[in-house]
Amino acid sequence: MEKFDQRVAVLRLGHRPSRDKRVSTHLLLAARAFGSEKGYYTGTQDNSLEESIRKITSYWGGNFTLDYAHSWKAVTKNWEGRIVHLTMYGIPFQEIVEEIRLDESPKLVIVGGAKVPGEVYNTADWNVAVTSQPHSEVSALAIFLHEFYQGKELGLEFPGARLKVLPQAKGKKLKTKTRGV
Ligand code: SAM
Repeated sequence: MEKFDQRVAVLRLGHRPSRDKRVSTHLLLAARAFGSEKGYYTGTQDNSLEESIRKITSYWGGNFTLDYAHSWKAVTKNWEGRIVHLTMYGIPFQEIVEEIRLDESPKLVIVGGAKVPGEVYNTADWNVAVTSQPHSEVSALAIFLHEFYQGKELGLEFPGARLKVLPQAKGKKLKTKTRGV
């Protein structure tokens, strides 16, 4: 499988390079690996975050791109589709996943950082809780994408990859491909 009919972009709020580098990187890598094609982030612009994501995509394939936005509203006001906000205060995911899936428009999935502005809750079409317990933006996003795509994302192919894992029961094997060959 190469592509899904349902497009999902992820918006990470309030990135702070000094504190969030690892978690923002992991969040965006999870977004890419689980079927999203586009990431946005707000907060402080971070060239090294952008470079890490660009490098991963260049080696491991696919079309994932990341853009910085000076404010979350700059992304939401131009978004042609519907908006999901992941928050432990929202409606339990299992109660509305079907409704979200049946909606055919592209989805923007917003995940918070340090402090989520109250307006985000009103802007979202769905405020979704992946359990009503506090945990992490990475786990919330991974579960969201997995349920939303009903597991189909597990077989996703990443076109143009220069590196590919050859799955092994034991040990590690990589297939490498030189660009343009
Ligand atoms: N203190 C922040 C606030 O003001 O809401 C939340 C911090 S939390 C570590 C970061 C993000 O993880 C949240 O904004 C949310 O997107 C996501 N998150 C954490 N637990 C969640 C849950 N149970 N369901 C959905 N998303 C969750």
